[in-house]
Amino acid sequence: MKFEEQTWKDIHELNKNSTIVFIPVGTIEQHGLHLPLGTDTFIIYEIANLFRKTRNDILLLPPIWYGYSYPIEKKFVGHITIYPDVLAELLERIIILLKSYSFKRFILIFDHYPNTVPIQSAVQKISKKEDIQKIIIVNFWELIRDGLSLFDHTGFHSESVETSILYYLRKELVKVDRIVDEFPTTQIGYDLFPRKGDLVSRSGVIGDPSHFSEEKAKIAVNLAIQNLTNIVGELQLY
Ligand SMILES: [Zn+2]
Repeated sequence: MKFEEQTWKDIHELNKNSTIVFIPVGTIEQHGLHLPLGTDTFIIYEIANLFRKTRNDILLLPPIWYGYSYPIEKKFVGHITIYPDVLAELLERIIILLKSYSFKRFILIFDHYPNTVPIQSAVQKISKKEDIQKIIIVNFWELIRDGLSLFDHTGFHSESVETSILYYLRKELVKVDRIVDEFPTTQIGYDLFPRKGDLVSRSGVIGDPSHFSEEKAKIAVNLAIQNLTNIVGELQLY
């Protein structure tokens, strides 16, 4: 069930021992000329929602739309990035409130890599303060790791995997006629602040979105759902 569609009484009456709270942590950031700003959020939310439909013990929260992104050139308008501390505090607040309503099991899912640190920071703080030991953090890319070899895959931003998966889940959001394969002219093996040089391509893409495949995305999404089923099975053992 979707959290925001319930009444307070519905939430009150849920079995808190068996219900698993699912929190998608997304972001709003540029994804080239063919994918929307909310790509990362759409991907994890749609997958979490498909998974929810396979069972009746998942309470899916609305996604957190704002995440932390590395500073990026101003030409990419539309980024709405929040500081890592702000995201960590928001997550901490949400989970502590849900815990006060007696929920015990939580899964946080994300696919936007820079959100890793704020999510872990929030969970560590909660674990210190509260008696919650049943929080699982799931990285979407780990869920589909065994399926990545299916893709003719290079790059890591708005490339063929992200494009395929969003096309499979929400094809009306993908502007196929605007796809370009591009890599930045400068590549470095470290994080540089403030950012200098053209570390992102002109379009914002880093990779090969033209190789997208709906068929391969379907396999990857099914794999993600199967892996989520396994993870929930493990969570229930605790
Ligand atoms: Zn992305």
